[in-house]
Amino acid sequence: MDYLPVFLQLRSARVVVVGGGRIASRKADLLLRTGARVVLVAPQLHEDLRSRVASGELTHLAESFAPAHLDGATLAIAATGLEHVNAAVCDAARARNVPVNVVDDASLSTFIFPAIVDRSPVVVAVGSAGQAPVLSRWVREQIEAALPSRLGALARFMGERRSGVQRALGAAARRAFWERIVRGRTAARVLAGDEPGARRAFEAQLLVSQLTTSAVTGDSALGEVYLIGAGPGDPDLLTLRALQLLQQADVVLYDRLVPPAVLERTRREARRIFVGKVHGAADGHTPQADIHELMIRFARQGLKVARLKGGDPFIFGRGGEEVEILARHGIPHLVVPGITAALGAAAAADIPLTLRGLSQSVTFVTGHVAQDDSLDWRSLARARQTVVFYMGVGKLEAIVQRLRAAGAPDTLPAALIERATMPEQRVVRSTLAQIAGRGGAGISSPALLIVGEVVGAAAGAETAPVPVPADTAADLIQPT
Ligand code: SAH
Repeated sequence: MDYLPVFLQLRSARVVVVGGGRIASRKADLLLRTGARVVLVAPQLHEDLRSRVASGELTHLAESFAPAHLDGATLAIAATGLEHVNAAVCDAARARNVPVNVVDDASLSTFIFPAIVDRSPVVVAVGSAGQAPVLSRWVREQIEAALPSRLGALARFMGERRSGVQRALGAAARRAFWERIVRGRTAARVLAGDEPGARRAFEAQLLVSQLTTSAVTGDSALGEVYLIGAGPGDPDLLTLRALQLLQQADVVLYDRLVPPAVLERTRREARRIFVGKVHGAADGHTPQADIHELMIRFARQGLKVARLKGGDPFIFGRGGEEVEILARHGIPHLVVPGITAALGAAAAADIPLTLRGLSQSVTFVTGHVAQDDSLDWRSLARARQTVVFYMGVGKLEAIVQRLRAAGAPDTLPAALIERATMPEQRVVRSTLAQIAGRGGAGISSPALLIVGEVVGAAAGAETAPVPVPADTAADLIQPT
């Protein structure tokens, strides 16, 4: 290890930045966040800095650098871009035993600035001993993406309760208690922005930890269900919160729509249970009531249950029923939205769902309504909108026929997108009159039907529409 990583307490300390340009400005910003008294030494200042000097945040000495500027300094930073000045700062600092950083010159520096992820009070610092700053920044980005944005709030939440826990629990129990807080319901709540829920979870856990020697283990109070949207299939389209909770879950109950690539992102030790609907099975599917029972049973055992559903849990996903049943049984739960299939498919096929001048609204419809007279087909057939049919593949003919009968033109662009965002994705573009023909017939579930002028907009925008001979039916099949 070439450098020792440490965190310096700089509150009210005199830190001298030599230089008045953009880089000096950035260093000054960083230092001010620590509460340091920043003194800028520079004959001239960058305009960003002038207003901050005027407001009193920074002290400015409009002078050329002199060694005496470093008297009483805790740190020195040379950011002048002038070799001889930087060298003079370095010499003066070393003579006074003041740690010095010369920007972009590790050989003159006695300390270097790491790349940081700031979730104060949690701060992650990454360094490469000055050898590969770009690599350090890349590592920083990876960490940035992996850490929840409310990590700082969680640290404060725990900090505020430290002394209380110290009084309530013996030394041995404390560590296990905090482990449970970090990995459990309390942290999940804080990270989701639900502080009242977090407080309740924390108090319940504290009570349980105090009673662990008694017959009441209290485990039943501690389980929780996460209703997680898995997105349309590509695991990179999971939300960060989905990933974080999948890494914590003890049990994962997943649907048919959830592909193996997404399941691989769950915790290795988690028990994975398939509860998807199997077409052709005797009863047609795992009854919804069985799924409810499983969720409740596991949660009551004190387990963290991830109920992983394709797309978004609240779009044709029966998430509403599951939340209701959990609430009725007093099981704490958290809903994590996912990218619904329509959004995944539209992005993957370059179809803007709304577009100025072409489409002012978008409607998601379940294809199950193909035979349903209660649906207002006339309003779905109107111009200047986009309609997306879920679960419509088997009823394609009926849907198309209904739309045409309600007044939608035969030439209205339409697309079928099968297995959107997955490696096997296929897109068929055609017109309403022809989509159910040859190309469309080859499409199987899961697939979406998108109807509207926007279907022709982006992909076909530059190329003039080519009249399609009737016998080629659905014209374009694009394996993507
Ligand atoms: N909750 C899910 C929808 C469940 S209904 C969501 O928000 O996406 C199941 C239907 O979703 C399928 O019949 C199909 O129409 C659609 N669907 C789900 N994933 C899809 C995908 N990757 N590509 C195309 N359609 C998909």
